[in-house]
Amino acid sequence: MTRRHFLTLTACSILISRCTSQSLPAHPIITVKGPIDPSKLGTTLSHEHIMVDFAAVDLASPYRYNAADVFNRVLPFLREIKQSGCDAFFDFTPDYLGRDPGILRRLSDATGLHIITNTGYYGAREDVHLPPHVMTDSVDQLAGRWIMEFEEGIGDTGIRPGFIKIGTDPGSLSEVDAKLVRAAARAHLATGLTIAVHTGPAEGAFEQMAILGEEGVDLSAWIWVHAQGERETQRHVEAAQRGAWVAFDGIKPLQEEMYLELLANMKENGLLNRVLISQDAGWYTVGEENGGGFRGYRYLLDTFVPALQSIGFTEDEIKMLLERNPAAAFAVRIRAGG
Ligand SMILES: [Zn+2]
Repeated sequence: MTRRHFLTLTACSILISRCTSQSLPAHPIITVKGPIDPSKLGTTLSHEHIMVDFAAVDLASPYRYNAADVFNRVLPFLREIKQSGCDAFFDFTPDYLGRDPGILRRLSDATGLHIITNTGYYGAREDVHLPPHVMTDSVDQLAGRWIMEFEEGIGDTGIRPGFIKIGTDPGSLSEVDAKLVRAAARAHLATGLTIAVHTGPAEGAFEQMAILGEEGVDLSAWIWVHAQGERETQRHVEAAQRGAWVAFDGIKPLQEEMYLELLANMKENGLLNRVLISQDAGWYTVGEENGGGFRGYRYLLDTFVPALQSIGFTEDEIKMLLERNPAAAFAVRIRAGG
């Protein structure tokens, strides 16, 4: 039996035992309050942030912020989007960059929003947010840390991650970034968690796809985060044709035209069913007065969706982008292939 088959069987038996004991959906979305059926996810912002701490990894600590202050600062912005019809919110802040699942759960309780957190490490920003054990761990040891969070919860919170978020620097993948991708691939095969990779331009994205292929992961388990960082739109088409999720996730007022064009291109190519949209907005910045300037989350639903309608996007296409695609992308399911 190969290692991959062993991991796959292990994950299946974990999922099956959980499903039978708690009658959970076979391929759930895992929120900070527990698993839900993907059909219950609703209108989704698939890449936003509650809090970010840009302190280097040796300084990162929950003692650097007051959880009640963060909660009070962010709550009104989440209430606004709930009012605008948002049901679900993916928090893309990884460990060692300000991830705090307890705050997310309290915000979910207070707003009724489904909130989803993640496991994985952020290798962008030239590795300043990577803990030292990344350099000494084997790929399997690294994957094992993330698998353990999936199986046992994050720290002592009992909160499980709903996806894997890693980050890589632009250009050809560094050795350590390639290691993160390989570990994420193995953690996927053990857990079924979708892999979202902060990437940007196509060069790193296509190298990641090659590694996933080597590891036997189908590209439908992988999200090209910040794909808008690649201006050669044919590359988006190629990735989507290979089954990847292409995320245009920095939508903001001053770049509305660019995002409309990116989406129109995917629509013309018949690939809207591989696209995720979001804003990368927020957030409470640790270390700044009252969390610093906050970019609220309302723009996409209140303004950008009407702009999409004005260029001919139908209700059904918008539902695909905001409901069906996130539900399909993040449903926890092992996608072997490659
Ligand atoms: Zn982000």
